[in-house]
Amino acid sequence: MNLTTKIFIGLILGAVTGLTLHFAAPDLFGTLDTFIFNPLGTVFLNLIKMLVVPIVFFSITLGTASLGDPKKLGRIGGKTVAFFLVTTTIAISIALSLAYIFEPGNISIDTADASYESEEAPGVVETFTGIIPTNPIQAMAEGNMLQIIAFSIFIGLALAILGKKTEGIMKLIEQGNDIMMYLVNLIMRFAPYGAFGLLASAIGTMGLDGAQAMGMYMIVVILGLVIHAIVTYGSAVSFLGKMNPIKFFKGFFPAMTVGFSTSSSSSTLPISMKTAQENLNVPKPVSSFVQPLGATINMDGTAIMQGVATVFIAQVYNTDLSFGQLVMVVLTAVLASIGTAGVPGVGLIMLAMVLNQVQLPVEGIALIIGIDRLLDMTRTALNITGDAACAVVVAESEKKYDDASEEREAMQA
Ligand code: ASP
Repeated sequence: MNLTTKIFIGLILGAVTGLTLHFAAPDLFGTLDTFIFNPLGTVFLNLIKMLVVPIVFFSITLGTASLGDPKKLGRIGGKTVAFFLVTTTIAISIALSLAYIFEPGNISIDTADASYESEEAPGVVETFTGIIPTNPIQAMAEGNMLQIIAFSIFIGLALAILGKKTEGIMKLIEQGNDIMMYLVNLIMRFAPYGAFGLLASAIGTMGLDGAQAMGMYMIVVILGLVIHAIVTYGSAVSFLGKMNPIKFFKGFFPAMTVGFSTSSSSSTLPISMKTAQENLNVPKPVSSFVQPLGATINMDGTAIMQGVATVFIAQVYNTDLSFGQLVMVVLTAVLASIGTAGVPGVGLIMLAMVLNQVQLPVEGIALIIGIDRLLDMTRTALNITGDAACAVVVAESEKKYDDASEEREAMQA
């Protein structure tokens, strides 16, 4: 049996076990969760999280150094950011349209007790000025992804320019990267058990609470995610990436299952990179650059949730949103996703920012918080798929340059 099937079985068994225990034997669930499910999930999560910072550092440094040419780096960077901005805007537009068609907020819910403490979301200017780390070691210790990316790009550029002089360090980085990739392979063997533990623990704890009252909201969000995956990514990979979409989704499926179980794009990063490189043939320099950046700044699934949630909350509170406000929702949701890392539940913090922008009550978040965990899993799976789709598209678009430089080299030889 291959690993993907095993992880999938782990997921299903976890969900079924969690749900059965939740209803049939809640006490037994408590004990099993403390001693088996939760530890299994946490060990798996910690194992992959352990690799995130070194993998981002080694692979981006190596990727930048092997691109060699700052122009190429700029080109890839430009295409990556453009892809992210366009797809996120499409995502949130799909979400807003679906929310207006299905009107999930046209229900009567008591909002009197709703309260929500909103956390401080990072400001746009601070996000940009904060990209350069004043202390790279601190950035690594804190896992500040954008800062680690910036530092690694600088080191990679220096290695490319210094060439022979820094051969030793280059070798070290190459070997460091090999070690990390080897460890990802090793840890993946534990993924089916980890997925089982994470799912049993999450589903067993929440059961189907709120799923009924919030059914329509959940359906609309999930519908948005599915449409975006099939239509937006499907067309992007087939027209721009020249890859059969079925091959794309099938190849990337193992990473999606891990994203689903962990609810964290950042934690899933080592596995999404390995999967894109091995199953989708994305060249390492492209994957190492696009995916870590995507895990931090590209969250289409989260944008879809925010679009639906904003309209949902407006409908529940009987407030009409003007076209200008809707444009504001799109802009804020896109910008908010840049400054926040892909970790569980961060979408709600960003949602607070969006609601504030259009003067909707932030307490509305209390209405959807109960069922957010399940949606968080689903949207995380989409978030990382968007990064992989971008990697496939950028890799394909770089081919002509690579072919041209190979030809040049052959002619010079
Ligand atoms: N958990 C999501 C991610 O890591 C972010 C979110 O929507 O909360 O991609």
